[in-house]
Amino acid sequence: MTDSPTLPAFDWPVLEPGWVWLCGAGPGDPGLLTLHGLNALRQADVIVYDALVETAILDWAPQAEAIYAGKRGGKPSAKQRDISLHLVELSRAGKRVLRLKGGDPFVFGRGGEEAQTLVQKGVPIRIIPGISAGIGGLAYAGIPVTHRDVNQAVTFVTGHDQTGETPTSLDWAAISKGSQVIVIYMGMKHIERIAGALLDAGRPAAEPVAVVTSATTKAQQVLETTLGTVVEDLAQSGLEPPAIICVGRSTLMRQVLDWQALAAGEAPRDLDPLGRGRPAESA
Ligand code: SAH
Repeated sequence: MTDSPTLPAFDWPVLEPGWVWLCGAGPGDPGLLTLHGLNALRQADVIVYDALVETAILDWAPQAEAIYAGKRGGKPSAKQRDISLHLVELSRAGKRVLRLKGGDPFVFGRGGEEAQTLVQKGVPIRIIPGISAGIGGLAYAGIPVTHRDVNQAVTFVTGHDQTGETPTSLDWAAISKGSQVIVIYMGMKHIERIAGALLDAGRPAAEPVAVVTSATTKAQQVLETTLGTVVEDLAQSGLEPPAIICVGRSTLMRQVLDWQALAAGEAPRDLDPLGRGRPAESA
């Protein structure tokens, strides 16, 4: 590739015909795609992309055929198995195939299943990680997913299981006890049950919660609420998925770290929202 970015002492991998690269596109902002992702976009013959992929990213691949494999406008999503088999067919047709998924392909994205099918069918693969919404999306809202004063652990959970229900296999009491910060993907639909489970498990009703929708895109919105009020506040807000819901005191850091508001000229709401009463970097 002549127009690949160049770095001294680094050979960009070549996407060979018949290969499938599974790549994370990041949560939205095209700048959050990795350089490996860009390198892949520039070489692909065909790109199979999902609903949450920011389509502006495809402009980096004008040579490629773009195939949409997600759910939009109420149409049912392509069946997972059909997508995987389509990738196999494209590879067998000698295409350079890029499978582009929102966020990171291995975080609640079924990338593992697709990759497994490809390997089972003898298709050579490469995995390109991406910035997951539950980390990068929160960062765009000014929320550090770990913060020394708040959490030594973070739990990423999905609000849906394969049947679309709140995952019954999740031990909410254990999560609640073991993880000061809980980051919930796909949680909008079942927020009532999830918040109820966390309250039942003993999390305080006053615990801060942030809901970040369309994170890192121009449409990003953030609702700051609490565990006790999130259901009502969300209903009143009219906010729509995709959303990351973050439960925990680290969400308060947004009061000092909402860098988009700061860039727009707003003053920090509170320089010490966790009330440490000492300089941030002191031991
Ligand atoms: N692989 C993706 C997650 C796919 S599951 C990743 O690593 O980010 C889909 C869920 O991800 C959505 O329901 C939502 O909870 C979350 N999500 C993805 N993109 C998002 C965005 N831009 N803003 C908020 N949430 C997002």
